[in-house]
Amino acid sequence: MKEPIIKVKDLRVIYNQGKSNEVRSLEDANVEIYPQEYVIIFGPSGCGKSTLLYAISGLQAPTYGDVSIEGKKLSEMNKKEKVNLHRNNIGMVFQAFYLVPSLNIIGNVCLPKSFSGISKKVREKDGMGLLQRFSIAEQAYKFPSELSGGQKQRVSIARSLINNPQIILADEPVGNLDSESAENVLRILKELNEIDKKTIILVTHNPEHLHFADRIIYMKDGKIVKEEVNKEKRPIEVVKKTQEEPDYQIPVEMKILMRTFRNLNPQQLGVLLVPFKAKQLLDHVLSDLTELQLNSAENYLKELLFHNMDIGTFERSLDMDFEKGGASWNKKRANSFASKIRLILEATEFISDEREKDKHHLILAEYLRKNFSLKLDEKLYMRLQSFLKLRMENKIDGFGLAKKMDLPVKMGGLGLYRNTADKITREVEIIMLLKYTRE
Ligand code: ADP
Ligand code: MG
Repeated sequence: MKEPIIKVKDLRVIYNQGKSNEVRSLEDANVEIYPQEYVIIFGPSGCGKSTLLYAISGLQAPTYGDVSIEGKKLSEMNKKEKVNLHRNNIGMVFQAFYLVPSLNIIGNVCLPKSFSGISKKVREKDGMGLLQRFSIAEQAYKFPSELSGGQKQRVSIARSLINNPQIILADEPVGNLDSESAENVLRILKELNEIDKKTIILVTHNPEHLHFADRIIYMKDGKIVKEEVNKEKRPIEVVKKTQEEPDYQIPVEMKILMRTFRNLNPQQLGVLLVPFKAKQLLDHVLSDLTELQLNSAENYLKELLFHNMDIGTFERSLDMDFEKGGASWNKKRANSFASKIRLILEATEFISDEREKDKHHLILAEYLRKNFSLKLDEKLYMRLQSFLKLRMENKIDGFGLAKKMDLPVKMGGLGLYRNTADKITREVEIIMLLKYTRE
């Protein structure tokens, strides 16, 4: 269970190598597929999906690199071993079905068994079982030309299963089917994965199919460009190893913010971070508006944080009626909200200037004293500054900061009410979040 059932290493496929019509269909593909995974290979037409699938199946010889199935290298198999591989270990399903027109349906399904030395009667019993399972038993003695596309594809799936292989490879199996038949076929493949525990690789260019997969491999121009996991089925060590790659590392700063903002996750590190910031900032400043007013304001806030809009336009947009494309707030509220946002953004800007790094905690302390009308004597104000310094250097998290502010003066704290300490901390965390950028 711990080893991949399919291993693709540094695989390259070049058609017409060295000629003027050379095509690099696959470049340095590395894929590991684990038993019982349902993997989709997704990408636009011509990106190399079929080439990858055929290389995995052994139907396409690689120009460089290697494929192993169940621990055995394809390149080291002799002809007989390859035939056995296709007969017993891999079932294939194609967009064009490839049924033999002169054989009836049960004959087609049992074709891969006809060299096995088992009597026709026993063979057909297994075949009929599969036809029943896929609701096409009534078609058993008809010929392929008498069946619909969806039925033909179910026949070809039955044929791929007749020798009970562990792996099913399907190349755009629903590419030519109407949506209802397509759904039907995709449900069958999902069931084969979930109930029969088959390992499935499905090639598709249709994004609507992606939710079926445990894992999605995205391809573009002959390369694997991205991978997405819906349901993790790989062994824990493998997943851990993958996540330790630089791309997956979460900086300490982010980890500490994640303690306060429970919905914050590593996937938001890129472009998605700004919408998240907008949402948090909004939740923080507001409470009693309608959903519509909030949603609309949130969108403007995103524009503001993406720097597509200045603060003046932002304020006017909040005040404008829905009909005119505004957020339908009133002037007073729009004004006080925009002022608050402006102050927070200014504070964020001040503490984002790396040249002033050693003054950041002083600036933040000043901002907090003003905005929360804090009455602290010189000694306590210096304590506040030192607490903020600890927080900004990520030596404590939001909870640590709140605790220090809440702690009685005698015990080295600021002696603030719990409520005030939490409010101030929340503001600090918001500013730290807004300040946060990936590099
Ligand atoms: P996909 O399945 O993603 O649509 P393919 O793997 O079929 O893509 O093809 C990838 C690229 O390789 C395309 O540019 C295609 O034209 C080219 N190609 C595929 N098969 C051959 C072949 N037998 N000879 C030359 N070029 C080919
Ligand atoms: Mg293809």
